[in-house]
Amino acid sequence: MEDEVIIGLEVHVRLLTKTKLFCSCENREVEEPNTNVCPICMGFPGTKPMLNEKAIELAALAALALNCKINKTFSFSRKVYFYPDLPKNFQITQYDAPIGIEGELMLLKAGRKIRIRRVHVEEDPARLVHVGGDITSASYALVDYNRSGMPLIEIVTEPDLKTPAEAREAVATLALVLGHIGVCDPSAESAIRVDANISLAGGKRVEIKNITGFANVEKALLFEIARQKQLRAMHIEIEQETRHFDEIKKTTSSLRTKESEEDYGYIFEPDLLTYHITDSMISSLAPALEELPSKRISRLISKYQIPENYARIIIYEGKNFADFFEHTADIFEDRIMLAKWSVGDLLKCLNYNRIDVSQAKITPQSYAEFLSMIKSGEITERLGKELIKEFVATGADPRRLAERYKNENFENLDLTQVIEATIKENPKAVEDYRKGNQKALQFLIGKVLEKTNNTADPKKIRDMLNARVAQ
Ligand SMILES: [Zn+2]
Repeated sequence: MEDEVIIGLEVHVRLLTKTKLFCSCENREVEEPNTNVCPICMGFPGTKPMLNEKAIELAALAALALNCKINKTFSFSRKVYFYPDLPKNFQITQYDAPIGIEGELMLLKAGRKIRIRRVHVEEDPARLVHVGGDITSASYALVDYNRSGMPLIEIVTEPDLKTPAEAREAVATLALVLGHIGVCDPSAESAIRVDANISLAGGKRVEIKNITGFANVEKALLFEIARQKQLRAMHIEIEQETRHFDEIKKTTSSLRTKESEEDYGYIFEPDLLTYHITDSMISSLAPALEELPSKRISRLISKYQIPENYARIIIYEGKNFADFFEHTADIFEDRIMLAKWSVGDLLKCLNYNRIDVSQAKITPQSYAEFLSMIKSGEITERLGKELIKEFVATGADPRRLAERYKNENFENLDLTQVIEATIKENPKAVEDYRKGNQKALQFLIGKVLEKTNNTADPKKIRDMLNARVAQ
């Protein structure tokens, strides 16, 4: 019998605030190590944390989006452990009263809901940079405290996930939901980090730490299931342990054994007051909840009159892409054309360059200009499909791009000569066309277009071909 697989996730999400959780340092990645720090996030003796209210708002928003019950009164705890990433030797987190409990998340592909156990707020520890290898093989480690004190929420699911693919879908869905309502920016590096707990039915639980990337969540779990099944087949007991996922080798390796929540000391955080979430704060979050993916899909359909499948793709690409679409729709009237190009060639080029639309140098203005050039017939659709590649990759002015392309190519070439050459090279197609075969005409038009690098007007080619072949 196949062993049943049981998976639960702890997803750490960096909140989109301006400043860190307990100090006024900026909440953004800074390249130069240890420059975005202050005595509070460095944990100097005598410093006291000041709670960032925006982080609480975003955490409450996330909890509401996940249909959690909200703990309107909560406090913070110190999770005590000794590790170089933690300057105070404790992490400020929420233990007995998390901000949200008992929520749920709908997985569309899996076709069912999974339960969310809790959503709580905590500070990020510092970042360890392992030199000369990964965490298991490096000769030494450097500590960068820039990340120390950045605001996170940790979302803990019940062990309801049954396959690595479902776990991947759960993380991707969380990223989508939290991205659209402005809780986090999933396109930012390490904005979402996952610890995955996995066991085979009746076996001990293994935790894989710190996985980034949706695909890696699936790969790490696939490897771990295979490893555990192999041990079981050899009648070797699976140890309860924490493992590390190697992104390059796609394998996991042991970090430490028999660690559990009881190994940490939790004590009340006396430097922070008990906090109350007011009803007015909750009602102020209502507009953001209108941006949940399902609601935003409906809005896109009714506001721009675009087909549902386009609206779905646009929303499922994430907030940045949907925002880009809407900003372009404000200035470009043909929304169907806009939607079609966006989910087609634009997306294809972004994926090819492996960039988010926010990282591409194109703007809603330049994209709208590019589309109007096609709509007005200034450039052909086929040339548009060529130009968009460079347009997305470089962000160059589309009008200049088209001019340069035409100059470099066949604008000045005599179309009559190109047609003569094409007829000469394809006698069979010409013969077929003379017999009335329309496909042969299409074929010939295609050949001529190819020779002009898609710069010539297909209608003009058709007319000229017709006249020439009829002779
Ligand atoms: Zn600071």
